[in-house]
Amino acid sequence: MQNSEVCRLCGGVAKHIFYKKILRRYDVNFFKCSGCGSQQTEKAYWLDEAYSIPGLHIDVGAASRSVKNWLSASAFLDRLAIPRSALGVDFGSGPGLFASLMRNGGRDFRSYDSYTRPTFSSYFAVENVEGLNPEIITAFEVFEHLPEPRKTMDALLSMRAPLVIFTTWPVDGQGEDWIYYLPDCGQHIFFFSTDALRMIGRNHGYTMTICQYFYIYFDEGKLSQDQVAAIDDFSLNAVAIFKGAAFDTINRVVNGNEHIDADLATAMARFAGELGDG
Ligand SMILES: [Zn+2]
Repeated sequence: MQNSEVCRLCGGVAKHIFYKKILRRYDVNFFKCSGCGSQQTEKAYWLDEAYSIPGLHIDVGAASRSVKNWLSASAFLDRLAIPRSALGVDFGSGPGLFASLMRNGGRDFRSYDSYTRPTFSSYFAVENVEGLNPEIITAFEVFEHLPEPRKTMDALLSMRAPLVIFTTWPVDGQGEDWIYYLPDCGQHIFFFSTDALRMIGRNHGYTMTICQYFYIYFDEGKLSQDQVAAIDDFSLNAVAIFKGAAFDTINRVVNGNEHIDADLATAMARFAGELGDG
């Protein structure tokens, strides 16, 4: 048995904690880092299989979660008076519903996913994130999927977006039966501790704060004093601000608007290009 391995985030010594049966067929070692407190599976050799079943299968909450993320992120960005033209990238977008809803509401979001084609926003997806200078990065339920968390976090945070909004479920003393390990599904392979999330953000000049709906990394040097104060306000009053803003956000998109019209024109042109001359 392997007693320890190197933490894929901080390079510390990760000690063996238990086995789990992954994808119902592989006995996999789990380790906990004595440096940053994160947990990891052994090197994930089963990912091709874990991603081979198409669709969202067991993730039955994906759509409602995207709606929640849309409404809460919209309320947050509006509260900070972030201009609607500010470029946003939804990293690890999955089917791309979040970016599509953000676009419908007039915010310039793009989807990016290395495993899935972002069906909902296919003409508004990017193939890679290199060279992009987004003002906002979102990453919902992504970090626990990273085979190389250090490399990916460095790449993500090196884009220097003033705001990074993300969700994951930090490991913090849960038992071996913690539901988030999701061993049957095989896609959750790295589990950040709260300290590790804070540490990797701080390494890149970010302060981390937590609100009811998501985590926020923010770069104080790139935001106004009012915006930093608004982040504080949102982290304390997220539910009330969400409630106050949600109806307007929904109402802006359900009957159509100029943003949807503009995207339709772009999509029609792209589609015509794909059809070719017949
Ligand atoms: Zn570590």
